[in-house]
Amino acid sequence: MDFVLSLMVGLLLVILIAVLIIHPYTIIRDLVNYFFKDYINRYLLLKKLKPRYKKILVDYCLYYHQLDAQDQKIFRRRVQKFISIKEFVPRGDLRKVTDEMKVLIASSAIQLTFGHPGVYFEHFWKILVYPDTYYSNIAQRYHHGEVNTKGYIILSWVNFMEGYINRTDGINLGLHEMAHALKLENAIRNNEYDFLDFDVLKSFDIESKKEIEHIRNGDIEFFRDYAGTDEHEFFAVVVENFFERPALFKEKKPYLYDLTSKLLNQNPLNGRGYGEMG
Ligand SMILES: [Zn+2]
Repeated sequence: MDFVLSLMVGLLLVILIAVLIIHPYTIIRDLVNYFFKDYINRYLLLKKLKPRYKKILVDYCLYYHQLDAQDQKIFRRRVQKFISIKEFVPRGDLRKVTDEMKVLIASSAIQLTFGHPGVYFEHFWKILVYPDTYYSNIAQRYHHGEVNTKGYIILSWVNFMEGYINRTDGINLGLHEMAHALKLENAIRNNEYDFLDFDVLKSFDIESKKEIEHIRNGDIEFFRDYAGTDEHEFFAVVVENFFERPALFKEKKPYLYDLTSKLLNQNPLNGRGYGEMG
């Protein structure tokens, strides 16, 4: 009996010591993560963008040119990190995912998350690139792109490029699919969970419902008909317009524009600074 008792006491002591050692560690780690994660991801642990990638960014990324020197540096490093942590997979007849594809796809993700320095769409670890539209067996139709909860972002390169060739029509496949990824990432419980302001998101949802109703009723409105599909497509179309024609967006829908600006923590009409929302 004495033996069993001392064994139990011993076991309890071991557990107590383990809790005392491990617990402060997890508390400190969680505190550091909570307060400094954005800072760490923004300035530290980021490597320089490879020179061959930098040339592509400079040659093709308009958003990058609109940033000041300090933000350009952050943007470059964040693009490098995105490329490093994702797996890019060629699909269909595409032989390989080229440097241009990697840099421009990464740029569209970083453009969207530039106001949220800690967000890299952790859940979406695989980027599948098709040369052109592709047939989806699940949906039984041709697709330009999609975001799949299994963790894939799927893009057709021709359609991706078309989005950037016309920069002011409010149609941009890259930003559209990244917007889906952003919204899902915010809802999936992981390190990047719940980064969008809850109250702003709530107000945005209320506005979405009203706008979708207008679109479905055929009222003359700002967003294309596809935005009326559901609240997910509405959000993605809003994001496309936010970056491609912000002045017109703000003029037509000032409240929704400000909500989008607050959600994304950036304002294309105001430079790119953090928290400079009007
Ligand atoms: Zn969509």
